[in-house]
Amino acid sequence: MSLVKQTPWIKSSCAYCGVGCGIEAKPNAKGELEIRGDKEHPANYGRLCSKGLALGETVGHQGRLLEPTVAGEPTTWDSALNHIATKFSQTIDQHGPDSVAFYVSGQILTEDYYLANKLMKGFIGSGNIDTNSRLCMSSTVVGHQRAFGTDTMPGCYDDLEQADMIVITGSNLAWCHPVLYQRIKAAKQQRPELFVVVIDPRVTATCEISDCHLALKPGSDVALFNGLLSYLAEHAALDTGFIAQHTDNFDCVLATARLGSNDLASLAASMDIDVENLELFYQRFAETDKVVTLFSQGVNQSSCGSDKVNSIINCHLATGRIGKPGSGPMSLTGQPNAMGGREVGGMASALAAHMNFDNESDHQAIADYWQTNNLARRPGLKAVELFDAIEAGTVKAVWIMATNPVVSLPDANRVKQALLKCPLVVVSDCIADTDTTRCADVLLPAQGWSEKSGTVTNSERRISRQRRLLASPGEAKPDWWIIKEVAIRMGFESAFTYQHEAQIFREYAAMTGLNNHDGQQRDLDLSGLCNINDQDYNELKPQQWPLRKVDQQIEHKRLFSNGNFFTPSGKARFVDVNFRPPASEVCSRYPLSLNTGRIRDQWHTMSRTGLSARLAGHSPEPFVDIHADDAARYGLEIGGIAQLSSRWGDVLARVSVSADVAVGQLFMPIHWADINSSRARVSSLIGPERDRESGQPEFKFTAVKIEAWPYASEALVLADTIATGDFEYWVRQKIPGSYLYRIASSLEPHVLAVKLEADLMAAGPCSSATTELFFSSAEKAEYRHAWLAQGNLKRCHIVAASLQAADYEWIEALYGQTIDGMVGASILSGIAAPQLMAGRQICACKNVGEKQIRQCIEDNKIDSVEQLGQLCEAGTGCGSCVPELESMLKDEIGSSLKAASEQAPLTSPTQPTTIPVLELA
Ligand code: SF4
Repeated sequence: MSLVKQTPWIKSSCAYCGVGCGIEAKPNAKGELEIRGDKEHPANYGRLCSKGLALGETVGHQGRLLEPTVAGEPTTWDSALNHIATKFSQTIDQHGPDSVAFYVSGQILTEDYYLANKLMKGFIGSGNIDTNSRLCMSSTVVGHQRAFGTDTMPGCYDDLEQADMIVITGSNLAWCHPVLYQRIKAAKQQRPELFVVVIDPRVTATCEISDCHLALKPGSDVALFNGLLSYLAEHAALDTGFIAQHTDNFDCVLATARLGSNDLASLAASMDIDVENLELFYQRFAETDKVVTLFSQGVNQSSCGSDKVNSIINCHLATGRIGKPGSGPMSLTGQPNAMGGREVGGMASALAAHMNFDNESDHQAIADYWQTNNLARRPGLKAVELFDAIEAGTVKAVWIMATNPVVSLPDANRVKQALLKCPLVVVSDCIADTDTTRCADVLLPAQGWSEKSGTVTNSERRISRQRRLLASPGEAKPDWWIIKEVAIRMGFESAFTYQHEAQIFREYAAMTGLNNHDGQQRDLDLSGLCNINDQDYNELKPQQWPLRKVDQQIEHKRLFSNGNFFTPSGKARFVDVNFRPPASEVCSRYPLSLNTGRIRDQWHTMSRTGLSARLAGHSPEPFVDIHADDAARYGLEIGGIAQLSSRWGDVLARVSVSADVAVGQLFMPIHWADINSSRARVSSLIGPERDRESGQPEFKFTAVKIEAWPYASEALVLADTIATGDFEYWVRQKIPGSYLYRIASSLEPHVLAVKLEADLMAAGPCSSATTELFFSSAEKAEYRHAWLAQGNLKRCHIVAASLQAADYEWIEALYGQTIDGMVGASILSGIAAPQLMAGRQICACKNVGEKQIRQCIEDNKIDSVEQLGQLCEAGTGCGSCVPELESMLKDEIGSSLKAASEQAPLTSPTQPTTIPVLELA
């Protein structure tokens, strides 16, 4: 028997998207975490995507906020908390409760959210608490409430395996909710007849599993789904019994839908799609009983996002496809606890536990429960309005928790200016340097993922524990502790006596049963958990609400199966929606429409995923996707730099010519910030237009112009740090052990090289550097300099007029490596030795590059991802890269067929040559 004590695997949940995957983690002696998927968690059954698998690489203490500061000076917790309480109290005394606000985050836990809401709405007496979830799914909240009388996602992930048709609209699922994409893909492999429709203006990785892709004109979703409703009526595909018994307002809504969609050909033309494709979608929807429609930010982030959501729900109500296995509208949340925030009143528009401001008995029940006579009477300011109010000076003190609005909110430059002039900005965060912490008067070190303990709710209403895995560094504290300490200092001690997060959870669970009459008033009911003891809370297994009894633990719950809804009539409401174009119009000055979104391996503003070198390798630089025709029209070169401008701001990004975007459209990722790039905060381009009901901004459509951004030189710099202030264009990428900087400048190459030498020397000597490698050619305008310490590369810069045509991806793998003669020659010549030629990273799990993969396909005549995996391991980890591998296989097979046809001997016209077509697996 072994005497060595094994560290157990601890179950927790992923820090990122709303899929809410279960993980298992094991700390090791070095303070690192091993991570694997939790096979028992019903969200993922052991699967994880590249981001989840890399969680262990993001828990280091580098860059952490370690102690409270006031006005930039370190101070004690007591002093910082007193300062905040005093300033908030003084502001409220002088200007009223609406002069203060909290801006919180789908990253905090339900227990944190509950206390923040209790303090603001219950005791300060203002509705001014809103969350960054406003930016990603508030239109769904409105859509759900209008249709169902409650903010409820009706189905569960299990429906994805049970459906016969899945419509994925406004979501690049393969990159943004990868584990759900993998579940659908696996279902389709088992049942190829599962029909998948992707609705997206772009060709995305998700299209790899689609049977029908509708690349509709941006913003035309309501026209598409109104057309579907009309088609269902015309083709006798309605569930008239369900409509009559369980819904209101159908005739009116159908009449509106018919107005816009009499003729399929003109409807298809209005959306820029083929009529055959449109008819195929409508026909399959009409004839398939089990249909799930998945939707996400592409639907929500719109000036008419709520109407888009209801246009989808209308089609499900009209066919009675809701609350049944394999059927229903399914909204996907972006963040790990966006749902938890919605539940506890983290949004300005609702009270806690899905209770409403306009319901007097709800209001009274909460006031009695919290024993307060100061409960807010009206909704507070929604995110964009809140920062408008800060700019206008009506909100004078704001506390921002675990979010980075200077990067993520629209009109981001204005947000930054608003914060800089706000009298009191408190930021609690685990990261010291973000674009938002730079605007703070008071900084509070919060615990990060892996240190916190509490609960989160995923998109399918499943509550999971996030467990403490590691000790927190410095003086970091849980968010709930920070909030209650401020509440106590503001005079609300008796209502904030919490010692443990389980106490908060029990109070919240009991609250969901208030005024609820055994779940008759609201389906959000966790009252079965209100008496669990601390141990049960610690051991809580993932389970879905409602949970009215402790033993009520059905594995997959659907709501509305009985046809009863939470509207006053008990029936679902059809909502009358009309197509409206996006708020921002393309015009001669701004002739292109910009779409924004996530990339495969990054999360939000990169404050966590940006710490992983492995995740940085896939897309290391901000880019703009543009169609080749537009690139030619606007004089852009592949790999050059473009400036994009809108009415609100401008950014710089690498030009990526791509057939995935249509003529007239552009796409840019959302992740880069001022801390890791010169000018790539895409939200500074986005206007403040928003949905009039939900307040959700229109991130998916902004009128912009694009032009080449000229530069005279470029550099790659491998160094721990450099002063970036003087460079017009720079981007910082995490690499193993250090950073890689990409720079472009108006300086001539030789001048840039001299400047970099000086900057690197100013950053400090390269300790014990014993060897330097130089290459300098004024004629070629190329300059390379590497510093080696005991034979290992410590610093390096490469300067030329342009670096984009050359391949320097290999340089990032060399930091700290022993530089032998061959590799040294590569650095000096700029031509990589064969062993360095991996190319851009494609498979993050196994670290396999594009060149390796293409070479492997060519050398071995591979025609399946499985063969690729066997030969070079690509695609054998989390599977997130598989759509790209399939795309590369198609490319390579296509090129080899083309080459074969070009080399084929000429034949007489009467003897046609047959070219074999390889089938992709
Ligand atoms: Fe995390 Fe990926 Fe699962 Fe989302 S899909 S919860 S990012 S592992």
